[in-house]
Amino acid sequence: MNATVQAKKPATKSLLVQGYEVVIGFETHAQLSTQSKIFSRASTAFGAQPNTQACAVDLALPGTLPVMNKGAVERAIEFGLAVGSQIAPRSIFARKNYFYPDLPKGYQISQFEIPVVQGGAVEFYLETGKGTEAVLEKKSVRLVRAHLEEDAGKSLHEDFIGQTGIDLNRAGTPLLEIVTEPDMRSSAEAVAYAKELHKIVTWIGICDGNMQEGSFRCDANVSVRKPGAELGTRREIKNLNSFKFMQQAIDFEIRWQIDELEDGRAIQQATVLFNPDTGETRAMRTKEDAADYRYFPDPDLPPLVVAPEWVERVRAGMTELPRVMAARFSATYGLSDYDAAALTQSRDVATYFESAAQACGQPKLVGNWIMGEVSKRLNASESDISACPVSAQQLAQLIGRIQDGTISNNAARQVMDVLWAEPASTVDAIIEAKGLKQMNDTGALEAIVDSVLAANPKNVAEYRAGNAKALNALVGQIMKGSQGKANPQQVHELLLKKLA
Ligand code: ADP
Ligand code: MG
Repeated sequence: MNATVQAKKPATKSLLVQGYEVVIGFETHAQLSTQSKIFSRASTAFGAQPNTQACAVDLALPGTLPVMNKGAVERAIEFGLAVGSQIAPRSIFARKNYFYPDLPKGYQISQFEIPVVQGGAVEFYLETGKGTEAVLEKKSVRLVRAHLEEDAGKSLHEDFIGQTGIDLNRAGTPLLEIVTEPDMRSSAEAVAYAKELHKIVTWIGICDGNMQEGSFRCDANVSVRKPGAELGTRREIKNLNSFKFMQQAIDFEIRWQIDELEDGRAIQQATVLFNPDTGETRAMRTKEDAADYRYFPDPDLPPLVVAPEWVERVRAGMTELPRVMAARFSATYGLSDYDAAALTQSRDVATYFESAAQACGQPKLVGNWIMGEVSKRLNASESDISACPVSAQQLAQLIGRIQDGTISNNAARQVMDVLWAEPASTVDAIIEAKGLKQMNDTGALEAIVDSVLAANPKNVAEYRAGNAKALNALVGQIMKGSQGKANPQQVHELLLKKLA
């Protein structure tokens, strides 16, 4: 993220692709971080031997009864509170009927007419344009609902020739399906939404966010239309499990739909899959309608009743939310909205920032260093701040040494390089060992200034004749004479005094 970009007025130009407006709505399945399943006591741990973690309840064998997992409900409530939703005082579980080999009981328990979480919105910044053209727009994607449901098992094709393996371990794993209004207008906006949603669910700890393991998977509904026209027919790209594929899949889908329309063909509503090897989406099945599922209230489960006191108890136990924390960072530390948003990208970044800022009392500098020098190095090693070799305390010490005039910014970057490679060393020891201390001895500095002035009468004369630029040449000479250790500010002041 570019640390120097500040929130500006929203871009007004509409984002048309070949004269079409793009419309995207998301359905995201976040696996809830409970230890046991949504209606049974079987474990949800990932990676066990196939079919060792599905119990009779998960398979709905005769004589079994599902029992709601309270922890799953609590996580749904936490999510709703985090995004400003209504928590339904009474919601209903329904059977969604369909048969796949990985759902042998023939229906999925879900919520249909009355979901537990209703409304709300996900807010984030979207950066458009590059470099100096970059513009930050504040976006808000409205949520329709978030409902509790159980996951199905998994069909395995890879290890079998001419056969399909079935692993039912995942059957009954708790999911929160989060559904948006069709509010997004570009693939970039869709990815920014998905990243923000991912941040929220991991921040509040209701989902581990592991996309490779399928803990956070997105379905992108995509359509295009001429500006001002009715919504176009959508196709739903299923199970996007990386932000990179998400962007590629949506971009391909947009181009494909526009080409179809331009060639005079109509879009058929369909469910499609993205193939990362070809970069293409392909229809998997024509889309079922709600009627195909023959939803009806699950007779085995009573309505889910959430009393206001329960909601308040959950609220009281929640950690500070990212946007609340961002607002506090702006107010307390004088950060711009953008910087505050960047520094609350994850809880780890926020914690790192706050401990460094409090340790050295220089929040703006700390923010700049994290978004600049620290991020640059983390990006280069493709790691995040939890793997940062330089601790918040060390960063605070480093910034303290810039602030008290011991070292220049430039020298501080060199110290950072050494710290990065040798995290056990200390800021002061590195400054000492590398001789990076700025020259604060006025006497020694004066001697250098005097000798430079004596050796460069031409520059001195030019400066006195009114050429201010001649000063730069003299500063340069003095910095060189001090082997870069002079404090440029001090050099400047001293020079002006001598030349006055
Ligand atoms: P279903 O229940 O069949 O999945 P919904 O009406 O609940 O259908 O919509 C599912 C998702 O598709 C929602 O996120 C919604 O915003 C989005 N969506 C609906 N219509 C369109 C459209 N024309 N273009 C893009 N997205 C759409
Ligand atoms: Mg759907």
